[in-house]
Amino acid sequence: MNDLEISQAVANILGKYGATTGSSATSSASPTSANADVAPVQVKAEPEDPIAKMVAQILSETTAQSASRATVPAPASIGFSASAADASNNGIFSHMDRAIEAAHIAQRQYSLCSMADRASFIKGIRDAFSQQPVLEQLSRMAVEETGMGNFHDKVIKNRVAVLQTPGVEDLVTQACSGDSGLTLVEYSAYGVIGSITPTTNPTETIICNAIGMLAAGNCVVFSPHPRSKQVSLLAIAMINQKLAELGAPANLVTTVEQPSIDSTNQLMKHPKVRMLVATGGPAIVNTVMSSGKKAIGAGAGNPPVVVDETANIEKAAKDIVNGCSFDNNMPCVAEKELLVVDQVADFLIHYMKKNGAYLLSDRAQIQKLQDLVLNEKATGPNTAFVGKGAVYILEKLNISAPADTKIILLETDKTHPFVVHELMMPILPLVRVDNVDAAIDLAIELEQGNRHTAIMHSTNVEKLTKMAKLIQTTIFVKNGPSYAGLGVGGEGYTTFTIAGPTGEGLTSAKSFARMRRCVMVESLNIR
Ligand code: NAD
Repeated sequence: MNDLEISQAVANILGKYGATTGSSATSSASPTSANADVAPVQVKAEPEDPIAKMVAQILSETTAQSASRATVPAPASIGFSASAADASNNGIFSHMDRAIEAAHIAQRQYSLCSMADRASFIKGIRDAFSQQPVLEQLSRMAVEETGMGNFHDKVIKNRVAVLQTPGVEDLVTQACSGDSGLTLVEYSAYGVIGSITPTTNPTETIICNAIGMLAAGNCVVFSPHPRSKQVSLLAIAMINQKLAELGAPANLVTTVEQPSIDSTNQLMKHPKVRMLVATGGPAIVNTVMSSGKKAIGAGAGNPPVVVDETANIEKAAKDIVNGCSFDNNMPCVAEKELLVVDQVADFLIHYMKKNGAYLLSDRAQIQKLQDLVLNEKATGPNTAFVGKGAVYILEKLNISAPADTKIILLETDKTHPFVVHELMMPILPLVRVDNVDAAIDLAIELEQGNRHTAIMHSTNVEKLTKMAKLIQTTIFVKNGPSYAGLGVGGEGYTTFTIAGPTGEGLTSAKSFARMRRCVMVESLNIR
């Protein structure tokens, strides 16, 4: 698609909203108007139409901004054309207020698009991001920028976010009809959503939330974690560029050049933001939940994994090592502490060692590890080690482990900080328990009411059912690695926003929609 075609596509959308294009226009507001080689598409802002006027204002503003913008990575580096990027400033604004205003205007235009338009925009995002070089580039950038996680697993996570996040098909209308007529209950957009995203799954969360939120008819203003700014802005720019190619309204997805705590606070307070979605630790989840707005909080977990004497120990060992080491333990669902019935603990350790666990049994070395990877008060991780690999961490203890070492395994008691606090690194504390009932009780205690994720390996259906019922987690994985709960090797769709505290669970398009009833009285019942 060339610049002129993009201009025309944008003009078509504006035309749909009441602005017109043509030589008699009064206001030159095309996103390409700064390009002397391309005849600008002129938008005739009807004086009585304040929305059209604001559209013109925002578009001219973003055109001016794009000339001075230097911090945004060039999407052209992975095959996206710079001309399309310039067409809309990629949804990236210098100030949060402008990002929100632009999304607000875009939302009004978007509400006039058809469901087929929405579906084609979602398909476009999937097409753009599912290309292997794109997945690899984003995954490599995320690891390099944040210093967390591993490339191989990030590619898997990004791929499932692109391909397994539900789109418009998630929004199934309910209908009831009778002598009094026909009533529809439909999933309808909130409007502008503020989505605050983490450093641990930066692009996965942006791709996943963009698909779900756009599918439900919303626009999104993202506030990415400052530590993952570059890769997050790139993902947002790519989404905008693809949407521009498809003729979508500009600025369906926006953000700011310099995400910060301040800009996140502005986002949370802005009256035009109708819903807040926070994916992160307890501080931000508590903040959005007390914001006075409709809020979805997807917070921290501390997933316990229980193994009882009836489990297939060899398989359990492999699954636990694979789940715990996935993306260096960065997923919030990943195994964080292992509770095993004493009778089978030695077998389990034996097979875990065969599958890439390095058993650290020397007390002095365990203390050194603790001093290294915990913060000063031992109340959480030393952030310098979050998302680092097992071999890297062992090297810091002067231990040279085999290159295929996936996790560090150590035995400890149930009060150890490794057991109690979410570390997000491939260190797995093992606690022996007398029997499966004691393991279930301890798992509930250690999950700490997060209602996030738990895993159990057992062939005893009664005990599996007991733990699932009592622990009340959003995700409960039986006889598999934790990531099966995200649809990686398990059935079901994927999400990277798992809302335990506010109860939406594994969010999808319908989580980002309001239920509205539309009633036709005494007609349209054809039974
Ligand atoms: P974080 O809480 O440090 O940051 C998350 C986001 O919130 C970032 O955009 C950050 O800038 C913002 N933020 C944090 N505190 C803020 C404050 N006081 N004011 C304004 N903005 C604030 O989390 P992180 O390190 O990026 O991610 C890891 C955490 O997120 C872990 O606890 C993990 O379990 C959790 N997480 C949960 C899910 C889920 O779906 N439930 C998914 C991913 C991560």
